[in-house]
Amino acid sequence: MQEKSVLEQENVADTYDGPSYIIVDKNALCDIFKYTLCGICNQSTLKLEFGHKYGFSHQLKLVCKTCSEQKMECFTSPRLEKKSNTSAPFDVNVHAVQAFLAISGGQASVEEFCMFLNMPLMSSKTFNEIKCYINSVYSLASQTVLNYVHNSVQNAYSKLNQNGSNTVTDIAVSFDGTRLTEDTHPKSVLAV
Ligand SMILES: [Zn+2]
Repeated sequence: MQEKSVLEQENVADTYDGPSYIIVDKNALCDIFKYTLCGICNQSTLKLEFGHKYGFSHQLKLVCKTCSEQKMECFTSPRLEKKSNTSAPFDVNVHAVQAFLAISGGQASVEEFCMFLNMPLMSSKTFNEIKCYINSVYSLASQTVLNYVHNSVQNAYSKLNQNGSNTVTDIAVSFDGTRLTEDTHPKSVLAV
């Protein structure tokens, strides 16, 4: 029986239209256009050219060698939203760096991965820039969660206070090593 992908198992494959990736041999990619005719000169001389690369995102250009018409130009990955202090990273680089960090591999593991697949290396500069981007996204997300939990707990206890059962004067909410505390002299602490 053929194994199903994680997306298929979760039954979201049909509705997910975000980026997803496959590893493709560049020759196979170029072969797609070998017998495709150019719409201008009607010759089968379309050629896929590889331009700039940023980590695992490569610029692709489809040009006709007979009439020099450039058919299209794109990158192999979309860009993500720019955060403060970082440039807009490519989606594929963020996911790749996340993956290598998750399996406790650093830049050295990325290099080994690339070498085994005969892929151009992701530079340590790109790797570290993406790491900073991921950290800023995590920090923003954890702050948002903290603020939400903080407000929810505060509202719950302010209702208790109104009912005359004021036994809690301080609320601390900690998340992933971050701790926020209300009041300077806590009498009791609630960790969420
Ligand atoms: Zn042409």
